[in-house]
Amino acid sequence: MDIMVLPGDGIGPEIMRSALRILEIMRSNFNVKIESQVYDNINARNIASGKVTLDYVLDEARKYRAILKGPMGDPNIRTKEGVEAGLDIILGLRFNLDLYANVRPIKLLPGVQSPLRDYGDGSKTIDYVLIRENSEGLYSSHFGGLILRDDVAIDIQTITRKGTERIVRFAFELARRSKGNAYGEKVVTCVDKSNVLKSFYFFRKVFTEVARNYSDVKYNFMYADAMAQFMILHPEMLNIVVTENMFGDILSELAAATVGGVGLAWSGNIGDDRAMFEPVHGSAPDIAGKGIANPTAMIMATSMMLDWLGYSREAKIIEDAILDALRSGVRTPDIGGKVTTEEFTNEIINRVLRR
Ligand code: ATP
Repeated sequence: MDIMVLPGDGIGPEIMRSALRILEIMRSNFNVKIESQVYDNINARNIASGKVTLDYVLDEARKYRAILKGPMGDPNIRTKEGVEAGLDIILGLRFNLDLYANVRPIKLLPGVQSPLRDYGDGSKTIDYVLIRENSEGLYSSHFGGLILRDDVAIDIQTITRKGTERIVRFAFELARRSKGNAYGEKVVTCVDKSNVLKSFYFFRKVFTEVARNYSDVKYNFMYADAMAQFMILHPEMLNIVVTENMFGDILSELAAATVGGVGLAWSGNIGDDRAMFEPVHGSAPDIAGKGIANPTAMIMATSMMLDWLGYSREAKIIEDAILDALRSGVRTPDIGGKVTTEEFTNEIINRVLRR
């Protein structure tokens, strides 16, 4: 089996249905030879009740090369410890399968107006990739961390040479294959707070060492606070951005907002021999069951997965179909349109079949 499919919760099963219909078309009409297995049982309710455990999910996941994941969790379904059910599974998959590179394309799709005045509708473009280190940083403290005597709480940020070298190498390799920023410059931007914390000073030092091996790619540095401004003021100058886990989490939400919101943002969690692809948004319980969820991020995540599995031509066909549909005004309500999830999916399938 090649891929494990986790529809998840809320709108997850609805948008996963769209993705699976498109995958089926790629199998029957193109030369895509991948088999998939759907796990409906891995959802917030079963996780909260203990029917589904992280160990079970990991044992199953290890049987596959890739995981296609919908949004998992529901703010109203909590574990005994009060944590949103599903979070341990998501973090557990990322950490235990060593999916160290969280790759988030930040792309302003056609027909979508950015909240940034000058971007969208034919003016300036936004098209860069934010790479969030996924296996260490501050969030590795999730499985540790301490509260002492109800007086002090401690979480520790871990930055290793191995973890930093591989994520920085990943960023430079991606830059090498990219078209560069709006000015055609291939450039990797390292984001840290090396002016404040030793761990970030070390991150920057290792970044610089790795960068020396890539003389064809430029690089620069930015403190995380300055980066938050830069992403609003000059996103067209960005090409590849690489940063620590928590900074990446925060900055990627900001980045998603600049390209029309989380409904239009997708990501890959990539390791050396396994990967997981997912939309950035949550399970949106407020619109679940209404048939109006935007499946764009889920379908773009599917396209990214096909590319990673070696089907780059087919991945591009799906991406082009989405861009064309959006350009022609086919839009779900979250981005100002009227079409349902199913109608949107039909439009994509029609375009794919016309190729
Ligand atoms: P999480 O913390 O689990 O990532 P969240 O609190 O950020 O979730 P979401 O579930 O992503 O929240 O929803 C935020 C808002 O965006 C909601 O109003 C939701 O309806 C909307 N939304 C999210 N994803 C989509 C989508 N694919 N299509 C349409 N609207 C969406």
